[in-house]
Amino acid sequence: MAVLNRDVAETILRAAALSEILNKRLVIITSAVQTFTPVEMPAKILIVEDEPSICENVVYALEADGFAVTSAGTGRKALEQLEAQDFSLVILDVGLPDMTGFEVCKTIRKTRSLPILFLTARSSEVDRVVGLEIGGDDYVLKPFSPRELVARVRAILRRVSAVPLPAPVVDAAGPLVIDETRCQAIYFGTALNLSRYEFRMLKAFAAHPGRVFSREQLMDQASEEPDASMERTVDTHVKTLRARMRGAREGLDPIVTHRGMGYSLLETWPEV
Ligand code: CA
Repeated sequence: MAVLNRDVAETILRAAALSEILNKRLVIITSAVQTFTPVEMPAKILIVEDEPSICENVVYALEADGFAVTSAGTGRKALEQLEAQDFSLVILDVGLPDMTGFEVCKTIRKTRSLPILFLTARSSEVDRVVGLEIGGDDYVLKPFSPRELVARVRAILRRVSAVPLPAPVVDAAGPLVIDETRCQAIYFGTALNLSRYEFRMLKAFAAHPGRVFSREQLMDQASEEPDASMERTVDTHVKTLRARMRGAREGLDPIVTHRGMGYSLLETWPEV
């Protein structure tokens, strides 16, 4: 039954993409069909691959499976995309024109912990890909079938979200839970996608609700090797942090600005 519904959904979605004329009528049907699909909000995947034919096949297969997909043909473009949007997973080709997939991965890992699935043409690279040095989550050897790739993506996402999120605790710390073992902040039941700096900053705030942290103190909390240039970027990190938290709960700004002094986390939370 579910398989049939899924096929129907795919066919309709494809038809909708192809036909401008039918689009308006199909909106109603697709929204009804979506109740059959297990994923409510499509997970966003970034595919980084410079060979257009491979890239197109992967995009097609993932979109047919209900994922929202963005593609990048170079390492630089991939890093730009990762700065601009939140993704659930990255598919990363090892051989890119401007830098290696390994370098891209290392740069991503400096600030983010999202799963990375490597595409590699050489079995000799596999040990490096999933080894500690690079820290990829999985790999697929070229040539591969797009179906197989989609199955791997699903398996990784299932694994990542298999650990139940802690229930939001409404107490002195408010609806914010810091999960140190997973380096995650759960805000109103939503896991925030934070950079390492942002996470550490929020952890410091949450440990002392209401306490005002100066920029310098926040810099010390957020960075292993704080330097003077970091202090100027504290405001930027706070801004991003606010945006992420607003994304989880609109209309509530949990970080208070104290002019000329610094920032603090709300001590008492409004009734929600
Ligand atoms: Ca390539």
